[in-house]
Amino acid sequence: MASVSFVPLSQHKRIVIKIGSSLLVDTQTGRLKQEWLASLADDLKGLADKGCELVLVSSGAIAMGRVVLGMGARPEKLEDAQAAAAVGQIALGRAYAEALGARDLVAGQVLLTLSDTEARRRYLNARATIGTLLARGAIPVVNENDTVATNEIRYGDNDRLAARVASMIGADALILLSDIDGLYSGPPARDPDAEHIGFVASITPEIEAMAGGEGSSLSRGGMRTKIDAAKMATGAGAAMVIASGKVLHPLAQIDAGARCTWFAPDGNPERARKRWIAGSLDPHGDLVIDEGAQRALLAGKSLLPAGIRQVHGRFERGDAVRILGLDGVEVARGLVAYDSADAAKIAGCKSADIEAILGYAGRNAMVHRDDMALTGAAQSAETHTRTLA
Ligand code: GLU
Repeated sequence: MASVSFVPLSQHKRIVIKIGSSLLVDTQTGRLKQEWLASLADDLKGLADKGCELVLVSSGAIAMGRVVLGMGARPEKLEDAQAAAAVGQIALGRAYAEALGARDLVAGQVLLTLSDTEARRRYLNARATIGTLLARGAIPVVNENDTVATNEIRYGDNDRLAARVASMIGADALILLSDIDGLYSGPPARDPDAEHIGFVASITPEIEAMAGGEGSSLSRGGMRTKIDAAKMATGAGAAMVIASGKVLHPLAQIDAGARCTWFAPDGNPERARKRWIAGSLDPHGDLVIDEGAQRALLAGKSLLPAGIRQVHGRFERGDAVRILGLDGVEVARGLVAYDSADAAKIAGCKSADIEAILGYAGRNAMVHRDDMALTGAAQSAETHTRTLA
């Protein structure tokens, strides 16, 4: 399915953004990727100016510190990792303070251990601190307190830490920026047929299976911890995105329609799917329908080829299209079952004639009702408030 965006990031009030080490730090030299950080800071500034409250959960302390201390690629011993984090965290905090400060944004460092989010009193305390920073317009920059965390009492990965923070502060969205652009049906490096999944309405056993079992997290780019994070975040009512951070301006890229995976916040999965379709930012074409079809759509029926008067734009099967009335007013959006060339050929025809016209037996509906969301005036107001609720 083509990538269809959910709602623009700026429409989420409170956003947690997780930044993986390899995006920020050159793992060979331990140097900070300045250009990338500047582009991220530009994106953050854009969102902050639109009124979003932002929280960063950034890795990179150990990666930066180990080079300074002359350690190997991955410190094996806990005390080495702890020492590396002590050195690296200062540099990391400074990098954020400078990059954000250059854009009139204030960074506040928050180092958490597992017990800070799991023990009720400390949890409330951590939440209150982050809440105060946000209320004052600052951007909390969170990391695990690796210098004191031991194996028994650590998250060990910032995907789950970020999800915990997102649920703790009631975030509307969690964005995991990493080196992979989303969830695939299988490991993309090894399986050429692996398909990218653009939208996950609910985390079913099939979705879990795509992430691989325990222990295969490394071979899947840490997908296991990302799915764990998705369960935590969506269960707490936040949408989650897995997107590639290997590009400059990674947040703006998400809004520009870059390939990524959106996980709907928990709720009714069917409604979530429709909300997602309604929020598609980048419809690839328009289908103009007649009054009979419009009545059928409003009554909850699928859009059949017979009711289509005109087809505009170029689209592939599965792309999002707008469905317009004869007056040009949008009635609905949906994922179309035919590409634009075939759609034009069968527009106005009976479903029974599709095979004779196209030479193959396709779907009866041009847009199935399960793949369609009504977006006319009354519905869009409702969709919007529900999305943001
Ligand atoms: N907290 C670790 C660090 O800052 C990174 C953990 C992770 O990458 O998930 O280096």
